[in-house]
Amino acid sequence: MKLTFLGTRGEIDISTKQHRMHSSLMVTYQGTEVMVDCGADWLDKIEDLNPEAIVITHAHPDHAGGLREGAPCPVYAPEAARHLVESYGVRERHVIEHRKEVSIGGIAFEAFPVEHSTRAPAVGYRISAGRVTIFYSPDVVYIHDRKQALSGARLYVGDGATLTRAMVRKRNDALIGHSPIRTQLTWCQKEGVPRAIFTHCGSEIVGGDEQKIGSKVREMAEERGVQARIATDGMEVVMR
Ligand SMILES: [Zn+2]
Ligand SMILES: [Zn+2]
Repeated sequence: MKLTFLGTRGEIDISTKQHRMHSSLMVTYQGTEVMVDCGADWLDKIEDLNPEAIVITHAHPDHAGGLREGAPCPVYAPEAARHLVESYGVRERHVIEHRKEVSIGGIAFEAFPVEHSTRAPAVGYRISAGRVTIFYSPDVVYIHDRKQALSGARLYVGDGATLTRAMVRKRNDALIGHSPIRTQLTWCQKEGVPRAIFTHCGSEIVGGDEQKIGSKVREMAEERGVQARIATDGMEVVMR
């Protein structure tokens, strides 16, 4: 399984060469390429990428806004994003139900509901191909069924909105926002995931001193027995 971090920027105003495009991950396996998330930055750029399918985590513009003028391929989205995808005029649409594995050309996607937004309920995906399983969760406060979501995963791809400061608010009974990298590394430690990569970078990372931040992330990860780094646009990772 090959992972290409097409974009690594969160919903922020600034961008740099390293974090220019909204978070999106291309998953490649045996010739099949599936794009996960397609934010507004990707509008008019999908045809060049030519994925076999696009899978969406939630209906926020930095994850689905690139579909505003439709899509040249099938789009898979959780029920909560169905109306948005319909309203964008996407012709071939599929609903991904929670905890029901869907296979696209040998790549399996299982959606796990995560706390993040009440208006745009989000999922994280457990993605498996061949012998490799990873978990992709670019916007997350809390993963329900975290144990099942992360069990046996070789890599956790998480939310880089903030390093240590929680960006979490409470609305009625729901938690909305983003958990810091430090908290997500603790999840990896608890569930035995050996490696983490953070995408969806917030202004702390994008506007900060990259070297300092990189070593801070490595330090927090090492304390937890995890290997971690920040993704940059175009970065490729081969998982075997
Ligand atoms: Zn986002
Ligand atoms: Zn979001």
